[in-house]
Amino acid sequence: MEPRISPEYVRTSLAASLTLDFQQGSFHRDAKLKGLNLLLHYEEGCTGRCHFCGLSRSRSEGPKKKTFIRVDWPLHSLEEIIERAKGKGQIHRVCISMITHPRALEDTLYVIRRFKEETDLSISVLSSPMLVRNVGSLQAIKDAGADRVGIAVDAATSELFDRLRGKGVEGPHRWDHYWDVVRMAVSLFGRFRVGIHLIVGLGETEREMVEAIQKGQDAGAHTHLFSFFPEKGSPMENEFPPALGRYRRMQLARWIINESSGSIQRMRFDEDGRLTDFGTDIEPLIRAGEPFMTSGCPGKDGKVACNRPYGNERPSGPIRNFPFMPEHQDIEEIRTQLDLP
Ligand code: SF4
Repeated sequence: MEPRISPEYVRTSLAASLTLDFQQGSFHRDAKLKGLNLLLHYEEGCTGRCHFCGLSRSRSEGPKKKTFIRVDWPLHSLEEIIERAKGKGQIHRVCISMITHPRALEDTLYVIRRFKEETDLSISVLSSPMLVRNVGSLQAIKDAGADRVGIAVDAATSELFDRLRGKGVEGPHRWDHYWDVVRMAVSLFGRFRVGIHLIVGLGETEREMVEAIQKGQDAGAHTHLFSFFPEKGSPMENEFPPALGRYRRMQLARWIINESSGSIQRMRFDEDGRLTDFGTDIEPLIRAGEPFMTSGCPGKDGKVACNRPYGNERPSGPIRNFPFMPEHQDIEEIRTQLDLP
């Protein structure tokens, strides 16, 4: 039997698999998926060795049981995914995640073209910077039909990046190159048509996380925030997710910097690097609830399409990234969780 690999087969997030009716189930609190997240798949897996990732080569489990940002990724045929996506009006965007594999760029271009030709979905690529050697690769992604690019920087500082993704784990990734690709992508796709992924809870202080968000903003890239989740079988399986209060404060700081013209210059931190003053009146922002929703690439309505229901936590909660607008009761809980001085 032919191996089921990309580009003919891709993995979908569990949420996408449910939404496309590959499997039965409903979402906690009736969350609606608006963006299809796809992941390329090869028998050899990803050549990266990132310490926190369920796809890492350094995992102790066999290749069949891999998870990535906390959710299972069932394998489906691309043909079938495209057919099923056509009838789903709730889906605004598709995102193709490259993994670090020699064929990933070429196969990503193929998948982009298929979606461009056969659907009217907007297309993002979560690129693998080690395969993007120059602006020509990004140009090819754009020419194929993607309108946005994401770069999973993940770690907030160069030291953490190096320790968890680079030389510290004999991995291929390099902090400076990632930021070079952010700048290249912004010059090609335009300011804020590029996003960076950052994971809260990899060992950074709150000040360091806010500095990374500000660095992205200054470069023309919004931050899409994730909360660290200890993937079973990964080298960090025994670590803990960040405290909820810390995550809430980072969500609010991200919103203020990316969406509300604030900046780190007006914020204050204590001697441990904890954020103590946001430099603006946060009460209306808490009441609005939007800062605590999933941040990601937008859909045609300008609102976040990549809402990744329960991609970051168990549905039993507490919800870290709200895939819908938080309700009154949620906001009261968020206010307590923020744990402000
Ligand atoms: S925010 Fe979502 S759609 Fe955008 S690059 Fe990241 S994973 Fe893809």
